[in-house]
Amino acid sequence: MAYLPNFFFLFLLIVSLYIFFRNLKKVKRNISLGKDVNRNNNSNARLKNMLRVAFGQSKMGSRPVAAILHLIVYVGFILINIELLEIILDGILGRHRIFAAFLGVFYDYLISTFEILAFLVLIAVFLFWTRRNIVRLKRFFSPETVGWPTFDANNILYFEVVLMFLFLFMNATDMLLQEANVDLYVKTGIFPVSQFFKPLFLDLSIDNLIFFERAFWWLHITGILIFLNYLYYSKHLHILLAFPNTYYANLESNGKFDVDSSIKNEVQLILYPDKEISSEINTPDKFGATDIFDLNWIQLMNAYSCTECGRCSNVCPANLTGKKLSPRAIMMKTRDRLEEVSKNLDKNNGSFINDNKQLLNDYISPEELWACTSCNACVEECPIEIDPLSIIMDMRKYLTLEKSAAPAELNSMMNNIENNGAPWPFSNQDRLEWVKE
Ligand code: SF4
Ligand code: SF4
Repeated sequence: MAYLPNFFFLFLLIVSLYIFFRNLKKVKRNISLGKDVNRNNNSNARLKNMLRVAFGQSKMGSRPVAAILHLIVYVGFILINIELLEIILDGILGRHRIFAAFLGVFYDYLISTFEILAFLVLIAVFLFWTRRNIVRLKRFFSPETVGWPTFDANNILYFEVVLMFLFLFMNATDMLLQEANVDLYVKTGIFPVSQFFKPLFLDLSIDNLIFFERAFWWLHITGILIFLNYLYYSKHLHILLAFPNTYYANLESNGKFDVDSSIKNEVQLILYPDKEISSEINTPDKFGATDIFDLNWIQLMNAYSCTECGRCSNVCPANLTGKKLSPRAIMMKTRDRLEEVSKNLDKNNGSFINDNKQLLNDYISPEELWACTSCNACVEECPIEIDPLSIIMDMRKYLTLEKSAAPAELNSMMNNIENNGAPWPFSNQDRLEWVKE
């Protein structure tokens, strides 16, 4: 009977971790639906890029206030894992503050640091919430953020507040039990923030204090496990995916497009019909992309990693001038379609049954695609190096090469190139006519 809480804790932990890893496996499966692309080269440069951009948050600096607030929440998230480790060991072994015995006075400083951090996280979360709900920053409000995305963004802030208060209340009641020399509640020194919450629990009997301390402990760890499993459904999956996303980011200069050899071949065939072309290059079944299966796995990982911060749309010239395009929406729609495919696979034992839908038209319209100026500002601005432009270009490729459905202006330019070898409607034989004049 004495071990019942330990068994229950272990059960809760195993179930939560099982669901978490099952969902993570699903994310991996869904990302693997994308085409293969080799980004295993240059591992040193990739590692440096990941440390600089994801770990060091180097691209957040363009907005210093948001960067500092985000850093506080981020450091809080990293450090809280140390505290979490202790909670898990306590829960399994039926101990209380297991690290205190090993770390001595260092433990006091550690707990003090966590408390100060928890306080700073509360301030940061309050400012984030105010920015979103009172100041109503424009980039948080666009058609793609209506409904779940806004609910999700607020949800996580409320989650953080509840978790931080539970942590501080747990320490406040613990401190009172330490002062009363109750067995198990070892003296652990200073509690710089939670001591201000002590008055809330001063009148409680020892039994009630123990009850509340335990309740806060259980709610805190349960909240963390719920948070862990909520990640899959949330834009906060970026907490995990920002790291691989920046590791596998495109290290080429922004703006340099991949030259698709098969397309180069086709163009050469049109322009120089007599020239011999390489026979080693396989012409694909389809040029460009209409659905997630035609994108590569990095593009799909990008979709799962998007933080929905809207920095890309905020600098997008098409978006700023009232066009239908929003690079954030491109990423969100790609993820939505990916999730739809994922449900289809789950329902059909891992086989995809044609649902007569696709990313193009059902989610992303040609109007959005052709509004893009291919300026690369969205790629440049993204704090975790997501590339919405590559998806736009792949879908345009399909419209152009498979459907000849480019806008009329582009079609006439391409016809001119095909017929005259130049974008203008004049034969290249007449190129020097102006000299005679
Ligand atoms: S590349 Fe396209 S989507 Fe990105 S910012 Fe420029 S216009 Fe907008
Ligand atoms: S693509 Fe990047 S900049 Fe745009 S919303 Fe997603 S994370 Fe933010």
